[in-house]
Amino acid sequence: MKCSALLLGCLLLLSVSPALAQQVTAIQAGAVLDVRTGRVDRDVVILVRDGLIEAMGKDVSVPLGSEVVDLSDQFVLPGLFDTHSHLLIQPDYASNNPILYKSVPYRAIEGVAAARDALMAGFTTVRDLDSEGADWADVALRDAINNGLVPGPRMQVATRSLSITGGYMNQNGLAPQIDVPQYGFLADSDDAIVAEIRREVKYGTDWIKLYATGTTRHINLEDMTPLPQFERDEIALVMQEAARFRIPVAAHAYGGPGAYNAVDLGARSIEHGMLLDDRTLDLMVQKGTFWVPTLSVYMGDDAPEDWSARTTAIVSAHRKTFARAVEKGVRIAYGTDVGAIPHGESARDFSYMVAYGMTPLQAIQSATVVSAELMGLDEIAGALQPGMAADIIAVEGNPLEDISLLGSVTFVMKDGVVYRQ
Ligand SMILES: [Zn+2]
Repeated sequence: MKCSALLLGCLLLLSVSPALAQQVTAIQAGAVLDVRTGRVDRDVVILVRDGLIEAMGKDVSVPLGSEVVDLSDQFVLPGLFDTHSHLLIQPDYASNNPILYKSVPYRAIEGVAAARDALMAGFTTVRDLDSEGADWADVALRDAINNGLVPGPRMQVATRSLSITGGYMNQNGLAPQIDVPQYGFLADSDDAIVAEIRREVKYGTDWIKLYATGTTRHINLEDMTPLPQFERDEIALVMQEAARFRIPVAAHAYGGPGAYNAVDLGARSIEHGMLLDDRTLDLMVQKGTFWVPTLSVYMGDDAPEDWSARTTAIVSAHRKTFARAVEKGVRIAYGTDVGAIPHGESARDFSYMVAYGMTPLQAIQSATVVSAELMGLDEIAGALQPGMAADIIAVEGNPLEDISLLGSVTFVMKDGVVYRQ
């Protein structure tokens, strides 16, 4: 072996390796936010070893040989969560249909770039809520990140979504004789629902994504009711089959019976929900269902005065529902639908959440501890304390005074590795 030929080098390596494994990073933080209480501590040292926070406090002594990161003029907080991402979708999807014009391998490469953008923007964890026609590319991306092949956030994925023929996630506008792949899996029978959930589990899904209502074009503007997708007993079947594998269900649901049934039958989260009524919001509080509002993606790209009547009505309903949900104490996790908005811009919903009735601390909690709880990661990430993953970001200034600072992250560490400094 090489070792016998290079005995000296080998011995050196052997003596150095344990020290490398013990490599400690000491972050000198000017200010650190305790996201649970809102307390801000000044001049804190955070010791990071083996990807975890080992110790933190004012009086922590820095071991000899530690790598020191000077953030003494920065404000430090836990890495952020976006619990509604689409890393396999790009903002050009409307004009450049990815299913018709892009290969799945190409979309996976786009996903690699999107994952890097999310991480660099301080989003160290995402829940990617379906690949929208890129099949299992989200599983591949998650695994490649976990294996250290490419940089990216910690991911949970939903693979393909469940929808219905004639509803959302269909390829529309083509002649009936043209058979093309769809954005979601169109499950029109009990057998199809069961088989698809089992297939998704087999290929590595973390979540089942259910389209319990249609999309914006399906909203009846006269009474603002969304299209309910699936019968109540079909939604019950989705929950039952997912529960067999202990896999949670995220329901795209704007409101009406589709949303109510999803909450009542056990969805862990409701996505979008701009038309949720009081009965459903109250049931969410009672059952502990999370709401992921995705506020900004429903706004038009142009000035509000140029929005269509549909966009104006939806944004107005979203705002009112958000204020009611905050007042009632619904658990609101942070999610943006990024992919439909440019990758790396996940921070843009913070300002709307604060404008619509949250305090800056509540908005930060939404993107940290509450999101971590939604994803079952609250013992691993979402707060800075010994034993938790060293997912640490910094901004210049106090985001409790100016929430928009979260859009300009200056430092990103994930699992103890520095990606941005
Ligand atoms: Zn989405």
